[in-house]
Amino acid sequence: MKKEFAVIGLGRLGGSIVQELVALGASVMAIDIDSEKVDEFAQIATQAVVADTTDESVLRSLGIRNFEHVVVAIGENIQASILTTLILKEIGVPRITVKAQNDHHEKVLLKIGADQVVHPERDMGRRMANNMLSNNILDYLELSDEYSIVEVQANRELVGHTLIDLDIRAQYGINIVAIKRDNHLLVSPQAIERIKDGDILVVIGSDLDIHHFEKEIL
Ligand code: ADP
Repeated sequence: MKKEFAVIGLGRLGGSIVQELVALGASVMAIDIDSEKVDEFAQIATQAVVADTTDESVLRSLGIRNFEHVVVAIGENIQASILTTLILKEIGVPRITVKAQNDHHEKVLLKIGADQVVHPERDMGRRMANNMLSNNILDYLELSDEYSIVEVQANRELVGHTLIDLDIRAQYGINIVAIKRDNHLLVSPQAIERIKDGDILVVIGSDLDIHHFEKEIL
């Protein structure tokens, strides 16, 4: 069965989520209080509806509890974002993802039961700063305050060696979870896999261990 999603707030983030979900074949209800925004998505979303989601009866009449996953991408209006999230939670939506404007907003959202809180500007800023600081780190994904996944370009020190030779897990406490090679992804590479020129290593570990690995070996 096709997954059913609803996206509330069709600004830059919400709009982009709707477009991507539809492109990936999902069924999406797009909701905004602003009818111009809704018109923009009338041809794109499975359904596009004008609604004020701070009104519980309106949300109920949309059958919002039948959606498996609802995204609240209301930006500036923090009060509307919190109230909407609270109502969704009370109605019993199984999974709620909310965009936070700042750390206080995030704290409140988690407290009232949002399953996932995203902070697009802060997260992207951290990602960019990490990419900018290191010439070897190609991409960076923060898993928690302590752990990340990074993509690093294999350099001369590594090329030609097998993973078992390098003994990276024991030496640095990090794991190579995949290797990107010639446009394909080798997931969970075997210990006997030999690193080739041009390989990109996808590494998981604590920020400290990754930093150590990067300084020592890259
Ligand atoms: P972004 O920073 O992602 O572009 P915006 O703040 O520009 O986010 O967009 C948020 C959207 O949420 C706007 O289109 C706005 O009309 C919508 N919105 C604000 N309040 C409500 C509400 N109570 N119900 C539904 N949509 C709302």
